[in-house]
Amino acid sequence: MKKNVANLTLALIVACSSLLSACNNQVATKSHVTSEKVDYFADNAFGNALAIVQHPAGVHANGITYVSYQGPLEDPYVASYNHKTGEWKGPFKAGVSEMGKDPSRPKIDNHGKPTMLIDDLGYIHIFFGGHGGMPKHGKNPLGNHHYGRNKHVVTKNPGDISQWQELDNIPAFGTYNQAVKMDNGDIYLFYRHGAHRSDWVYQKSTDHGRTFAAPVSFLKHKKRDDIKADDSWYAWVSKGKDNDIIVSYDYHVCWNNGAGINGRGHTTERHDAYYMVFDTEQGTWHNVKDESVNIPVTREVANDQTLVARTGADWTFNGSAHIDENGYPHIATNIGIDLGQKIGGPKQTSYFRWTGTEWIGGSYVNPQSRIDNTDSRGDFFFKSANEVTFALGYQQQDDGVIAYFTSVDGGETFEKEKELLRRKGANWALTAIIENAHPEARMIVAEKQKGSNWHKLYLLGDSGPVKRLKQDASLLN
Ligand code: ZN
Repeated sequence: MKKNVANLTLALIVACSSLLSACNNQVATKSHVTSEKVDYFADNAFGNALAIVQHPAGVHANGITYVSYQGPLEDPYVASYNHKTGEWKGPFKAGVSEMGKDPSRPKIDNHGKPTMLIDDLGYIHIFFGGHGGMPKHGKNPLGNHHYGRNKHVVTKNPGDISQWQELDNIPAFGTYNQAVKMDNGDIYLFYRHGAHRSDWVYQKSTDHGRTFAAPVSFLKHKKRDDIKADDSWYAWVSKGKDNDIIVSYDYHVCWNNGAGINGRGHTTERHDAYYMVFDTEQGTWHNVKDESVNIPVTREVANDQTLVARTGADWTFNGSAHIDENGYPHIATNIGIDLGQKIGGPKQTSYFRWTGTEWIGGSYVNPQSRIDNTDSRGDFFFKSANEVTFALGYQQQDDGVIAYFTSVDGGETFEKEKELLRRKGANWALTAIIENAHPEARMIVAEKQKGSNWHKLYLLGDSGPVKRLKQDASLLN
């Protein structure tokens, strides 16, 4: 600590020697300020502040990484880090959620986490705050209601995260926003159009997100006639090759009350892995074999045409999908044994890929998590076509660990590579890999410690967390 202050002062004196008078004040001011740095950039993440599904949560553009998270009162917050100058800005509150304010609903909803997009004019967009909307927002034509209101805010100026304005241009009903910008600047916003019993849709904007065409359903919810449940889905969407958007998804059997396995009623029961492609140039959908797929996709069509893998009695928690340099898709999904809980049980990250002729895989990225029956979560990136690296959060005895796991044998086995963070008692919440990520800043993670709803946030890359002055990262009083 003391050494750091001395070094800083020395550095300033050296740097200032040619500008003596101008720098005197600065040195005097600095001497009152502690130069202590911490490895988190904010400590006011609230509840389940981050997830892989609402994505991207961060975008890197022109040497600056912009990050977002759920902060106080479930509102979206945005900060930025300049990789050249080392300067942090924010966090700034980007908007006001309709959730997190009602004292008669003290439970944190957590579904309205922010999703970020930077348009071709440099404006930063945040979509947030939705969990199906409420009856006061009108009838949901594509599903059911639950809470919140899906919202869209944009910076008043390009690249400036300090001032935001709300745009009233999307329906209230969206949940799990996912934003994709194509090479021609067109923006696609994907989300579930309501609560569990709803279609998944996309909306297209050709004017940098100022207006959107009407929602188009691509995954259909419907009542089952063989069991007391509805077909429902969880999807993860991202840019594919050229004009393609790729979608990986799992199936949620949305049980009615009193039905379900052992009469458990509604659970988070989900199964299997699916994949399909949206050709945005043609406006058509196809499967991995390039066979045409009609939307909205029903359970029957999904099983016939888009199946990646069955998971049997195990339950799933959908992960992410990316294409390699050959254009072949790779999929992460989390698979766990049903232990009879409402959530089944912990789930472990596993990996599948398309070889050009078939889907292979199913290996666990960290097999020890499967043996321990603890949770793991993570997203992945390619170092080369044959080298896939997961940034994985998992438990090791009392420690929460985030580490890179890399496979060089096509995903058969993964080797633990570099450990990025380890904290006693921590449960990590991770985002998807940041859009166009700088190697110093691949993802945002929140350190969840038992007994508090407030969590520290880290911007993590190949060298571990990006540091920040303690006084700037300490936001809770
Ligand atoms: Zn459900």
